[in-house]
Amino acid sequence: MSPSGGAIGLRSDIRIAVVGPFSGPRSAWGDLLLHAIRRYRLPGFVWEPVDDVGDADVARRVAARIAADGGYRAVIGHFNSLGVAAALPIYRAAGIPLLLPLSTGTGLLSDGRGGALRWCAEDRGQLLALTAEAHRMGAPRLWVTDDGSANGSHLSAELLGLTGGAVPVSTTTDPADCAGPVVVCGTHHGAAKTGLSLRAAGYAGRLLFPDDCGVPEFAELLGDDPDAHVVRLTGGAVACVEEAFAALTGALIADPHRAGPGLLDLVCVHSGVPLTETGEPAPGARGWELVGVDALRGAHELAGAPANGTPELDTLVVGTGIVGCATAAALAEPGRRVALIGLGPDASSATRNSGGLIRAYEPDEAVRELTIRSFRLLWQRPESGPFGFRRTGSLVLLGPGDLAEAERGVAHLRDGGVAAHLIDAAEIRRRWPDFAVDDVAAAVWEPGGGYTTTIATANAFRADAVRRGVLAWYGRVHGVRPGPAGVVAETGWGAVDARTVVVATGSSIPDLRDRAGAAIGPQARVKRIRYGWFDRGGRVLPTVSDLVTGMWGRPNLDGDSFLTGRPVDEWDVPASGGDALTTEQVDYIRSGAATRWPWLASADYLGGRFGADLYGDGGPLHGAVCADLPVVAAGVFSGGGVKAAPATAARVAATIRGMLT
Ligand SMILES: Cc1cc2nc3c(=O)[nH]c(=O)nc-3n(C[C@H](O)[C@H](O)[C@H](O)COP(=O)(O)OP(=O)(O)OC[C@H]3O[C@@H](n4cnc5c(N)ncnc54)[C@H](O)[C@@H]3O)c2cc1C
Repeated sequence: MSPSGGAIGLRSDIRIAVVGPFSGPRSAWGDLLLHAIRRYRLPGFVWEPVDDVGDADVARRVAARIAADGGYRAVIGHFNSLGVAAALPIYRAAGIPLLLPLSTGTGLLSDGRGGALRWCAEDRGQLLALTAEAHRMGAPRLWVTDDGSANGSHLSAELLGLTGGAVPVSTTTDPADCAGPVVVCGTHHGAAKTGLSLRAAGYAGRLLFPDDCGVPEFAELLGDDPDAHVVRLTGGAVACVEEAFAALTGALIADPHRAGPGLLDLVCVHSGVPLTETGEPAPGARGWELVGVDALRGAHELAGAPANGTPELDTLVVGTGIVGCATAAALAEPGRRVALIGLGPDASSATRNSGGLIRAYEPDEAVRELTIRSFRLLWQRPESGPFGFRRTGSLVLLGPGDLAEAERGVAHLRDGGVAAHLIDAAEIRRRWPDFAVDDVAAAVWEPGGGYTTTIATANAFRADAVRRGVLAWYGRVHGVRPGPAGVVAETGWGAVDARTVVVATGSSIPDLRDRAGAAIGPQARVKRIRYGWFDRGGRVLPTVSDLVTGMWGRPNLDGDSFLTGRPVDEWDVPASGGDALTTEQVDYIRSGAATRWPWLASADYLGGRFGADLYGDGGPLHGAVCADLPVVAAGVFSGGGVKAAPATAARVAATIRGMLT
């Protein structure tokens, strides 16, 4: 087993080729892909950058090499559309899915032969957006020139041949005479040079540049020019790259064995952009926008302000862990303006580090209410599979003192439509001979329990929300205060007006309260949770929560491993997580686990993980937290927020709806 695949209990790493222009004049675009690789450093994933220099012939050769290798699960890239046209038949023949975040060439997938998905709009829309801008300015026509490059003359020819534009398009050799905006077609170096010479020649009107110029370097090359605008993919190219990476990783975490057309189907479930049968964004899902050249300076950063301002929202959901994402999905509906803001895919969260054990039985009746409802909403529905859920059955081991509540709980589960019954220790021994259960009185058995791959589940909720109109923003929210709409949320890039705010920031909920100066939420403390992966030697095991010892564990069905954790008394720790466990920490987990699973005393340790969650005595929080502000917090899950997330989200959404009416 390879080191990173082993760390999450997979049998081997998943190799993805990321193809783009990593050298040469288009390398500013390749940077977008390299930044995304850094954001998506996930255990089990190996991203392999492959340079095609943005050239179609090199792209064809690169594709042939990737296909011949035979070990790549998918390809993200290429950037250059002519390169895609050359490479796609090769990937199709090899059955390697191709994910296109940035290739805007018109008609690239129109032959309907599949094998690829793309997240960006087509060039024709860009051309229409340019003529629409001239029309908006009241200009009778749009003028076009180019930088002399092949790319520039190709695009200007397309513009001149455009049908259905808002104004006619004419070529110009002397833009100084033009009474209207001039489009300068070309690559970002050449177009900047041409733009500067037009200014030097006395042209004082609006300069428009195509999306090839939508890189930070272009703003440096052109310098300060308030009347220069660039047409770019709505939300910026970085948003398209982010969606493609999120969708692919979400799909492969949900099902690490998916490949070929089946992988593409699952990627669609995890894509925030709705995709059609041919693999294109659904009509209207992706478009073009014009932004001032200044807006390009942070264009490769995920956590930039939305370029054309922020609308007043009905609800801002803060936090992109499973609860924030599920809440955004529960709030998404036509006509409602909702945005979801988080720190980006590489930010630490309990969700990212979670063990993901899923069961409906909980000794606490109020929590049980939520977990039972969560089974009805997701875990026992067919769509839970693509969300990353695996059915292994769940066993909650009980001591004698737990029995009375367990009997009430099993009745509660059954009334709620969740299959469950009590089994005695003899039955446990008979079914799982590898368990040592001398100190166990009985167990609650739920055949529908199991575990979920939490990053995938959160991503699937996020994608569902975004597909249904929720805006995805990146940045840190520092505090909330009263505002004209209801609440002003102060973010790292500016203020956002919203009628209501949901705070789903996990262990950071108390930070937000302190910074805002408002007392939100009850007393709660951040506690460490730690677990290890051990070789399970082919044993068939259920998901287990052990109320006698406090241990917990689950198999990993995608690898021959067993994840097990042992409670630690470590409080007020940082909310961060990681995968480096000391020998003492591994020994501590192993010695506890071996009392229940004796074979673990000598099983190979494969890797570990730690994280933190917010704990409080009063049970989970999912309601209004400020007397004078329409702010709802969802948190304090005391190490169990994943299994209850669907119902928590539904409850928070209902509270918000009540506030909005
Ligand atoms: C090691 C471990 C194992 C676990 N095992 C299980 C289990 O088996 N079963 C189970 O049900 N639960 C389990 N849990 C608990 C469960 O994972 C958490 O309760 C749940 O993930 C909490 O989700 P959340 O969305 O509320 O918070 P989080 O997942 O912590 O997400 C909060 C998000 O808010 C973001 N954020 C923070 N501050 C800000 C800010 N100021 N502005 C913008 N964004 C911000 C963070 O980056 C993060 O993305 C486990 C937890 C850990 C750590």
